[in-house]
Amino acid sequence: PLPAAPAAPARPIVPAVPARPGNRATATPTDRLIIVALDPGHGGEDPGAIGPAGTREKDVVLRVAQLLRQRINATTVAGNPMRAYLTRDGDYFVPLGTRVQKARDVQADLFVSIHADAFTTPAARGASVFALSQSGASSAAARWMANKENQSDLVGGINAQRQAQDRYVQFTKLDMSITAQIKDSLQLGRVLLGEIGQLGQLHKPQVEQAGFAVLKAPDIPSVLVETAFISNPEEEKRLRSSAYQEQLANALMRGITRYFAKNPPLARSRSV
Ligand SMILES: [Zn+2]
Repeated sequence: PLPAAPAAPARPIVPAVPARPGNRATATPTDRLIIVALDPGHGGEDPGAIGPAGTREKDVVLRVAQLLRQRINATTVAGNPMRAYLTRDGDYFVPLGTRVQKARDVQADLFVSIHADAFTTPAARGASVFALSQSGASSAAARWMANKENQSDLVGGINAQRQAQDRYVQFTKLDMSITAQIKDSLQLGRVLLGEIGQLGQLHKPQVEQAGFAVLKAPDIPSVLVETAFISNPEEEKRLRSSAYQEQLANALMRGITRYFAKNPPLARSRSV
């Protein structure tokens, strides 16, 4: 069993950054809750990777997500309170697609999936951060288009108007939305890497890109963080320690705050 959580430090952060002009010129700053979806990997019958000392990925990533939730819930962005939403808050299995859908259902502003890496040799070490790849984006767009339910959900209130448009136009818009998502996700990934890199060695100094299913929300900047290699005995030991878990949560919190300082959350007008 893991130790009880200490009270989260109240760290209100109020960046004095106005909504940036340019490609977001049509949008206005928001005065609503900022929602960050946290996605602890694995769970239930899926333990994820298991370290040489028996540490299970599903347990440490849930702990880090819970610590990060405390910090998020105690933080404001430009006066707007933040709230964390966990795609799982216990030891149970949640399918990958459901994790994305849950984040979309709460209209999350960000999606951060939390994992621990493993490799066949114990020497592999360090954190890495992934965003969706372009090829993953195309397949995601195709998949969303193929799924009528997702499609109608996605176009939402403007569905009737859009129904008249041909599928090619819809696909193009969806593809553009995902391309923008990737751009934002890479930015988020870079600040997160910068913060995690202060804790120790990085596995890869740049944000990597892959077709991970949980990164495929077309309208939510989404990253997957491999916090460390649980297959590395030294890193497994760190991952088990509550002090390191808190350092990780602090680093992720700093990254999320820095991202929002550069990319102020906007009034809700989701459409693709
Ligand atoms: Zn994992």
